[in-house]
Amino acid sequence: MAFYLPSRLPNVGTTIFTVMSRLAAEHGAINLSQGFPDFSPSPALLERVTHHMAAGANQYPPMAGVPSLREAIAEKVARLYLASYDPETEVTVTAGATQAIYTAIAACVRPGDEVIVFAPVYDSYVPGIELNGGHAVFAHLRFPGFKPDWDEVRALITPRTRMIIINSPHNPSGSVWSADDMATLEALVCDTKIVVVSDEVYEHVVFDQKDGNGALGHHSVTRYPGLRERSFVVSSFGKTYHVTGWKVAYCLAPRALMNEFRKAHQFIVFTVHHPAQLALADFMRGHPEFADQLAAFYQAKRDFFRRQIEGSRFVLLPCAGTYFQLATYAAISDEPDASFVRRLTTEHGVAAIPVSAFNPDGEDQRVIRFCFAKNETTLAAAGERLRAL
Ligand code: PMP
Ligand code: GLN
Repeated sequence: MAFYLPSRLPNVGTTIFTVMSRLAAEHGAINLSQGFPDFSPSPALLERVTHHMAAGANQYPPMAGVPSLREAIAEKVARLYLASYDPETEVTVTAGATQAIYTAIAACVRPGDEVIVFAPVYDSYVPGIELNGGHAVFAHLRFPGFKPDWDEVRALITPRTRMIIINSPHNPSGSVWSADDMATLEALVCDTKIVVVSDEVYEHVVFDQKDGNGALGHHSVTRYPGLRERSFVVSSFGKTYHVTGWKVAYCLAPRALMNEFRKAHQFIVFTVHHPAQLALADFMRGHPEFADQLAAFYQAKRDFFRRQIEGSRFVLLPCAGTYFQLATYAAISDEPDASFVRRLTTEHGVAAIPVSAFNPDGEDQRVIRFCFAKNETTLAAAGERLRAL
């Protein structure tokens, strides 16, 4: 009889990002599905990686990350959010935001604990909770505004609630939480032992800010003392510096929380690619304007892409942040979003993500997600195909 392994994740298949990117490649479709840029990072950043490799940074770096990068991160957070984190004890470099989030869960969640997440939910959160014996409890960001319903959240909190995971700017909806949302969350958790994980990977990509600097419109939990004291804050260099394939990110937390995080981190990955860390530290210090200009850079792409869709039968939803644009397609088809994106990819040559893939109950509002972190030529070519539908 064949060996049988009962699954720890019986309801999980291959991620939608992998599935759709593979389908796009098989059919030679323009890939606006998985979120990654089709343009290169700064040559100055690439030069620093090769420099540090040639200079010998090829063995294990310190477990928590190289000091120069942790210092650069702490300086950035102090400058943008006026929040103080000790680079020695409160900043850890991780192998992507995915690992940071998983590690925070592993460090805190015990069997039977409840973790509140907001649906549509980024796909790594729930498996991370379940692998650690926790139960995901779902609050809803409802179509079409995708705003939190705080009465619902309040009703979901029980003595078993160990953690709340939040994500603003939000993937996939592109919605952004307001100062009121953050203050409401702060008030909700203040008399509890609830830990917050704040996924802020799109912190620099908040649109329509007066001075163009996206991070200023971003309500990081680091700005709210009652949240900061209980939060793991996660950001990703992949998103900020156009290097999603490097898988370098970081986590911030007050000392006692970070101490627990590092106990898990050291046995999950121990440490992260050494030359990339040194290069990112040099680049952050040498080019602080890069992150400050990211919102304007992506806002131009958002607006360009939206103009491409004008005149098509897709209806665009508002996009306040991230590099994702949602669209509905009721005038084109009434089929479920998963089959619609398959047909869009295989018959019309543009790959997108069905938003139902982010809904644990499979709820399907017939909405799909396009990634506009692409060259204008890519977006224009996709626009031409989408207008033809
Ligand atoms: N959280 C969100 C909301 C994301 O969109 C992503 C990646 N697209 C991640 C986490 C994972 O980031 P990383 O690639 O750094 O692991
Ligand atoms: N976070 C990216 C997205 O939302 C994909 C990352 C991945 O493929 N795991 O498209």
